[in-house]
Amino acid sequence: MNCRALTLCLFSSIGLHAAPVDLPALFDKRALVKPITELEGILSDGTTATVYKIVVRSLPFDHAMGPWAPATLKDKGGYWEDTVDKKLYRVDADYLRLLNKRGWNMFDADGTVHRTKDRSEFDKVARQELAGWTYEQAAKDGITNSIIELQPSEQVVTIFLPKHPKASAKATPLRQARFSPRSGLGISTNGVRFFPPEPVDRITAFKNIAPLDPKGGHTGFGHEYHYHRAPSVMDGDQSGKVVGFALDGFPVRGPTEADGSAPQKLDSINGHDHDGLGYHYHVSNVWPYIVGGFNGPLGTAVLGDVDVCDATKTGGDGGKGGKGKGKGAPKGGDGKKGPPPEGK
Ligand SMILES: [Zn+2]
Ligand SMILES: [Zn+2]
Repeated sequence: MNCRALTLCLFSSIGLHAAPVDLPALFDKRALVKPITELEGILSDGTTATVYKIVVRSLPFDHAMGPWAPATLKDKGGYWEDTVDKKLYRVDADYLRLLNKRGWNMFDADGTVHRTKDRSEFDKVARQELAGWTYEQAAKDGITNSIIELQPSEQVVTIFLPKHPKASAKATPLRQARFSPRSGLGISTNGVRFFPPEPVDRITAFKNIAPLDPKGGHTGFGHEYHYHRAPSVMDGDQSGKVVGFALDGFPVRGPTEADGSAPQKLDSINGHDHDGLGYHYHVSNVWPYIVGGFNGPLGTAVLGDVDVCDATKTGGDGGKGGKGKGKGAPKGGDGKKGPPPEGK
């Protein structure tokens, strides 16, 4: 094959098969436990496909984590979208006073803020939320009137994403999508997973809040760090760059296009295709914040460094993609031992 023919061939293969996004090149080495490899796996629709195997630590290398709860009324904590007026508040003295006016009890007379002080208290919250306790039960034996926080631990997770993402006949909205509690919605290029919107009603049923830090992340019930909002949204990034990948393998871009303009004609799941970029999603500062569902069959994620991708098995109980009506505790996740699945 001469040079010109080879060039044509390369161009046509790019045009026909995939968006011009080189996934492995977008992940920083520091995000990875080992280099990204490829293997044959089974996607959520039962088809076999080449998937990327991406092993991450679930900790960001590129920014600090926290704060979530302020220690005292003089300090500033993270961000919490109020369930009554739907505004995003900095968790500080003014906001905690607002909660107290509603009959909550978020700080002592000396200004000490009520928060989960260790892992055992944090795990109590997981138990009461997942088991569907009443407020009265939690007031007696659990945690109420507190800001939920814990310093995250490293969690090695293998996430499998289709190398050649393919559109399904119909997009799957978040509420109908079935994905593992391990996998969330996909992954940021810094190795931190994207999770569905927080089940805020389930959290506030106990007069608790679980704020996000200034990058949109916090610690989940598995003690792992994850995002409910993308750092690019929290930072006001206007580069339109690829910030991560959804579980169906399609890229997730920042809140704007490359020229800083607002994305136009997004479909029902926050995606579109224009200017030769191929299908992609855009994160935003309104529900569902990351993606609104999936355009194609999904890969999956599994705890640890593993070599078997079968998304029909780990599709599990779905991610509680809705706004969390306070009932229906997630089932036991993917059946692996270890920390409970994400619940907050
Ligand atoms: Zn776009
Ligand atoms: Zn969370």
